[in-house]
Amino acid sequence: MRFTKLVDYLAKLEATTKRLEMTAILGALFKEATADEIAPIIYLTQERLGPAFEPIDFGIGEALAAEALAKASGKDKEAIKKLYNQHGDYGIVAEKLLSDSGKAFTVTQVFDRLKEIALASGEGAMTQKTDLLADLLQKLSGREARYVLRIPLGRLRLGIGDPTVMEGLSWSVTGDKSLRPQIERAYNVCSDLGQVARVLKSEGVDALAKIQVEVGKPVRMALAERAKNAEDIVTRLGKCAIENKYDGFRCQVHKRGDEVRIFSRNLEETTAMFTDIADGIRQQIKAKTAILEGEALSYDPETGEFHPFQVTMQRKRKYDVAEMTVKFPLRLIAFDLLYLDGKDFTSQPYSKRHETLASIIAPGERVELSRHLITQDAKEIEKFFMEAITNGLEGIIAKRLDSRYQAGMRNFNWIKLKRSYQGHLSDTVDGVIVGYLRGRGMRARFGIGALLVAVYDDDQDKFATIAKIGTGLSDAEWPQMRELLDKIAVAQKPARVDALIEPDVWVEPKYVIEMQADEITRSPVHTAGKVGDEPGYALRFPRVVGFIRTDRKAEDATTVKEILRMFEKQGKSMSQ
Ligand code: AMP
Repeated sequence: MRFTKLVDYLAKLEATTKRLEMTAILGALFKEATADEIAPIIYLTQERLGPAFEPIDFGIGEALAAEALAKASGKDKEAIKKLYNQHGDYGIVAEKLLSDSGKAFTVTQVFDRLKEIALASGEGAMTQKTDLLADLLQKLSGREARYVLRIPLGRLRLGIGDPTVMEGLSWSVTGDKSLRPQIERAYNVCSDLGQVARVLKSEGVDALAKIQVEVGKPVRMALAERAKNAEDIVTRLGKCAIENKYDGFRCQVHKRGDEVRIFSRNLEETTAMFTDIADGIRQQIKAKTAILEGEALSYDPETGEFHPFQVTMQRKRKYDVAEMTVKFPLRLIAFDLLYLDGKDFTSQPYSKRHETLASIIAPGERVELSRHLITQDAKEIEKFFMEAITNGLEGIIAKRLDSRYQAGMRNFNWIKLKRSYQGHLSDTVDGVIVGYLRGRGMRARFGIGALLVAVYDDDQDKFATIAKIGTGLSDAEWPQMRELLDKIAVAQKPARVDALIEPDVWVEPKYVIEMQADEITRSPVHTAGKVGDEPGYALRFPRVVGFIRTDRKAEDATTVKEILRMFEKQGKSMSQ
């Protein structure tokens, strides 16, 4: 196909905003295209040079475009600037400046030229890019140049998303949308509409079923529906698996030997950012080839507890990666397996995928299995939920035991139940230190890594635990803290302390610290406000503010009653 023909179609697409018309225009375009050129056509209409997961940056900005245009047209830069100020679009400027000859290039030739320009790199790349682009523009008609220039500048603005392309493809074969399901299934599996179109064009609709999961090509991710509460989950799924819902980065990991690639939820490659996860996969995954999914979270090596999402978020950057992996190490909580040693697992039931996943993870720091509870008891689900919240997690995800992995689908195979967002507690809480845990990781040298803290139950004259806290003290303060606590250490749990958690060292309830937290949550592991079998209350994401409050004695700590009032005030709805 001549490029000028494609331009005719692009002009038609530009002239409409009606989806149905767009679909029909695309259908005609795809019908006319050959199997070799259909992928480039799709990429170009989406302003790309390949599938989204393999981005090739054009490296053509407005300044470079202006310069190339000056060269191609023989006009000076001032004149071009002036025209641009008038029209606000280099595409139109190109059309005005360039002649109406040209029109000899094919779509594939233009595509290849753009790719050549994009791939020019290293010393002198800018000059090279400018020269190549100028040369290309010179060989095109003004109308062709209008669209060619808009592509790298991201100015096509045709509003053609993946669904419209898929429907256009269906249209090109049947004249209606009826093939969309087959096309979409193939796309969900390989994430490359160019590939799907090529197969459809060269081998027909039935061949789409042959497109299978491949290591190195991200699979569009399965997503979760919502539930109102635990009852709702049981009604929908019956006996199901309950997993923690971790709030971090969704990672789809592709492993082939020592080569590891990681893709994000929107299929961007994140391998370069998450080098610690890639290392962990190499060390801990016992498989030659595999595709697995999980959530990557930053954690505190001292307490083993996960950081809030804001902290994990800091890992989302391209610079100082080595430093960040030390400061905020990530751990991948693996929850699904899509492929293993030559075998596609997506059509296996969840239970089989999870079980196989468990069998290929060797013990280690960087990768662990997302553990689950199999149940059909709403009460048990609620308990699991509350424990998850206390551990700083977002909620839970219930999974249908016999469901396959449905790429790109949001349905009730997975159901999420999230806490409602509460934000920061407006008040701080004064707690009494009742014990401490020995440091692990970097704080091992201090021999103290986290404090077990209680509030005061003035009815029963008891200190009931509300938090395990490892954040807020400096490296200088930890040894100081340990020295003070060792002086009041006792061999057994002090009589007035009510706790389910067993610290490494118990201390007399004496020192009060002030804590900030995101909110108060229900918790089965803490005893503050606990009555009978019901869960107690805990601080979510607690951190120490300041140091020991020497102006307070233990009984001056915040009371359980106050905690209950704070909890009431913040609202306690479970689902979002
Ligand atoms: P949402 O983003 O709120 O729609 O929730 C779905 C997201 O939860 C997924 O895309 C994952 O990134 C994340 N997630 C966390 N833990 C799990 C888990 N155990 N199973 C599946 N997804 C999880």
